[in-house]
Formats: sequence, structure tokens, C-alpha cells
Amino acid sequence: MRGRSPARRIVFLGPPGAGKGTQASELARELHVPHLSTGELLRAAVAEGSPLGRSADGHMRAGRLVPDDLVLEILRERLGRPDAARGFLLDGYPRTEAQAATLERLTALDVVVWFDVAPRTLTERLSGRWTCPRCGSVYNVAGRPPRTAGRCDLDGGELVQRPDDRPEAVEVRLKVFGEQTAPLLEHYRRRGLLEVVDGSGTPSEVAARLRQLLGVPESL
Ligand code: ADP
Repeated sequence: MRGRSPARRIVFLGPPGAGKGTQASELARELHVPHLSTGELLRAAVAEGSPLGRSADGHMRAGRLVPDDLVLEILRERLGRPDAARGFLLDGYPRTEAQAATLERLTALDVVVWFDVAPRTLTERLSGRWTCPRCGSVYNVAGRPPRTAGRCDLDGGELVQRPDDRPEAVEVRLKVFGEQTAPLLEHYRRRGLLEVVDGSGTPSEVAARLRQLLGVPESL
């Protein structure tokens, strides 16, 4: 718990498949702050075919990190929009010590939530994951199926599997996470910003733990 008002400048950190995106999109709606996902912003740039998207595409498909300057360009633009002034839920950034240092120069943070999930669960979740390319909603054939097979509950869009959820790319993403992102756990622990959430179980179980951790009232 963090006093009466819930934290508003939040970072979600954790391995691919930990459920950050699923939790972030719902919590952001409840807190009335934007959900800033660098993965989503990059996928939108790829879909648009912008020069930035064309440069990022190959890295993403292979499961590698997109070069810092490209990610920073889209993040800076998004964080600078008026709706991010009263808070944000940042998902997918930072992923390296260098990105953490950059973020410190861009904004202060209230809390960093680390999603703790067993490696075997991660691969299961990633291989069953389907997303809506229109609104970014995430489903899972096992844990959170859409009401109508293959269609988004929110806008009826046709669900797709991400190219980087193929087994070869998943392997690279998990390796990159272990080498480059996992050290950020200690980075934020040292700064007194870290909270750890148990990311196992159903999305609603995790959501309830998160609410308690962040002091979000049930009524919100
Ligand atoms: P996940 O966390 O499940 O891997 P994301 O949607 O957050 O999925 O990211 C998908 C891909 O987008 C990453 O594998 C990487 O290629 C790219 N990406 C997202 N955020 C960053 C970042 N901060 N730095 C570099 N690349 C990034």
C-alpha cells in the first residue's frame, strides 16, 4: 500500500509471457492513465510501414531488442503527449541498464512492479497467445480464451499470433531477458522502487494481487 492515492507512474518489468500487457491494459483503464507499451508502439510502426517500423521489424521477428535510438524516439514522443502528464503505466521499457538510465532522465517513477513467473509457465503462455492487432487485447487459448474463437471480445477484430511467439524467437527473447533485463531487478531494488508480484495463476488472480500491492481501491 502506498498511502491513499494509488501510484500513477508505474513500470511493469518481467519476462516475455509474464502477463504484463494483459494486466497493464486493464489496470491503466482503472487508473485513468495511458498504457504505454513499447512493444505495441513498435508493432504499430511496423504495421504502418514507417521508416522506424521497417528498421525495427527484423529485430522484433528474431526476438532481439530493437536498437535503443529507435525505441527512445517512439517512447519520447509518447511520453510527451498530454495524457501521460498525470501518470502512465509503462510496459516493455526499460529492458537494459542503459534504458533505465535514459528513463531516469525523462521522468521520475513511483513504483516498478516485477512479475515473478516460473520459466515453464512463460513458454506455455507464449505458445498459446493470440492478440488483436486493432486494439492490442491479449488472449490465451488455455487461460483466457476469447468469447468467440478467433475474434476480439472488444472490437471483433480477427486475432493473430505474433511472429515473435514462434519457438525460435521465444528462445531468443527469454535469453535476452535473462542477460539484459533481469539485472534491472537489483537496479530498482537498490533505488527502493521495487515491488514483486506473483504472476502465476489466472489473470484475475494476478489482477487482485496487483491491486492490493498498488493500493488500488476495489471501487476503481
Ligand atoms: P514481450 O515483453 O512479451 O517480449 P513486447 O511486446 O513488450 O513483448 O516486445 C516485443 C518486442 O519489441 C521485443 O522482443 C523487442 O524486439 C521489441 N521491444 C519492445 N520494447 C523494447 C525496448 N524497450 N527495447 C528494445 N526492444 C524493445
